[in-house]
Amino acid sequence: MNADEIRRAYLDFMTERGHVIIPRSPLVPKDDPTTLFTGSGMQPLLPYLLGAQHPAGTRLADSQTCLRVQDIEEVGDNRHTTFFEMLGNWSLGDYFKQEQIPQVWTFLTAKVGLDPDRIYVSCFSGDPKNDIPKDEESAQLWTGLFQEAGVSSDQVDVGTEEHAAAVGTGGARIAFYGKKNWWCRGGKAEDMPVGEPGGPDTEIFYLFPTVEHDPTFGEHCHQNCDCGRFIELGNSVFMEYRRTETGFEPLPKKNVDYGGGLARIAAAAIDSPDVFRIGLLWPIIERLQELSGRSYEDETVSMRVIADHLRGATFLAVDGVMPGNKAQGYVMRRLLRRAIRFAFDLGLEENFFPQIIPTIAEIYEAHYPEVGEHAEYVEKVLVKEEQAFRRTLRKGLKQLRAYRGTTVTGAELFVLYDTYGFPVELSTEEAGRQGIVVSETWRDEFDEHMTAQRERSQRSTTLHV
Ligand code: ATP
Ligand code: MG
Ligand code: MG
Ligand code: MG
Repeated sequence: MNADEIRRAYLDFMTERGHVIIPRSPLVPKDDPTTLFTGSGMQPLLPYLLGAQHPAGTRLADSQTCLRVQDIEEVGDNRHTTFFEMLGNWSLGDYFKQEQIPQVWTFLTAKVGLDPDRIYVSCFSGDPKNDIPKDEESAQLWTGLFQEAGVSSDQVDVGTEEHAAAVGTGGARIAFYGKKNWWCRGGKAEDMPVGEPGGPDTEIFYLFPTVEHDPTFGEHCHQNCDCGRFIELGNSVFMEYRRTETGFEPLPKKNVDYGGGLARIAAAAIDSPDVFRIGLLWPIIERLQELSGRSYEDETVSMRVIADHLRGATFLAVDGVMPGNKAQGYVMRRLLRRAIRFAFDLGLEENFFPQIIPTIAEIYEAHYPEVGEHAEYVEKVLVKEEQAFRRTLRKGLKQLRAYRGTTVTGAELFVLYDTYGFPVELSTEEAGRQGIVVSETWRDEFDEHMTAQRERSQRSTTLHV
């Protein structure tokens, strides 16, 4: 199955199981000024997980477009992108673990056809300090499924000697982690206000034995090791407790939140530890190879970054964001300008967006008709931004190189921003590449200049009215 087929199969599977398919929320949350982007399927549904009645009922599912700027540094590895689709399903006080764990297992093994022997999971080890028990129930359900499939089902507490030994022999099927597998708003059980709901989560990983463990990430590989040998496909949060004055008590109405990465499931389906090999990304990489005459093998990171950033910016434009100096617009500008900078390394020094954007639109228009409908507009917005930055990119890079041997100050970074249109994160990243030292206090200095400029421009607009 390819990614489009997996998305369709998922939504059909959930429909068969009584779920109502809800439309994706836009990348910019509607009534939530606290966050710039929709970063998970759960985010738009939080009010309902906290008790509000959802008009579509108690069983919901969707494919949610997400943007995580916090993952931008991760882009370049085999599994993180800033933009991605999360397959989600929710039980709002309806079914619980007994139904959800076998449900996701059936989808991944029977529908998508993943190898049961390469599925590994993590469960919550409990939190004695806060008096929250170990999630034995989830572990037992997983054990039953693994046994039925005829694969090992050993359990181990991560971090113990027993764990180290197990990892040495290929890893434990069910690994228990502490805080990592606890979900609540804010993340920490001890900081939860009285009445606040929370619960354990169980994560599902796929093992890629061809990827060698990288010891820089730790002596032993395990489910949550960052080396990329295990790829997290998804996780289920079981909201089952409520904070009390003295500890935790069971919630009368328990919820499930499941989120799985479409790209990663699709990569597992073609036995590729590299998500960029799937049909939603590979055509973009192919275009980049054609345009640059370079190979993906030689230019892996640059091509991954460009493909991801242009796809993210395309969806931002579809959802009404314009490149700009503030908030969402600034992030969009940063993505586009960073893509242009990386393309420079591939020898793509002339405008190339018009050769890429239509490929992105083609990939997505069948499932997201709005992408096809706005294709021309999107291209116009992105191309305009490319032309604007192209004019100053070379000069800006030259200016930055002139700082070699000195310590770049926040004031100088501001000049790069103001005169050459370099988002400050791009300048500091570039300085890093060139071995140029950046002053430790650059952020404060830069912000001061920024504030001063805003005040100046406000004053001049008031004078003119
Ligand atoms: P990871 O540990 O790999 O960073 P996560 O635990 O941060 O993932 P969740 O918040 O649990 O991710 O999101 C649910 C699912 O969405 C993940 O299991 C994964 O399949 C997918 N996902 C999360 N972040 C990304 C990303 N940056 N790119 C692609 N898929 C992602
Ligand atoms: Mg993450
Ligand atoms: Mg994770
Ligand atoms: Mg997770």
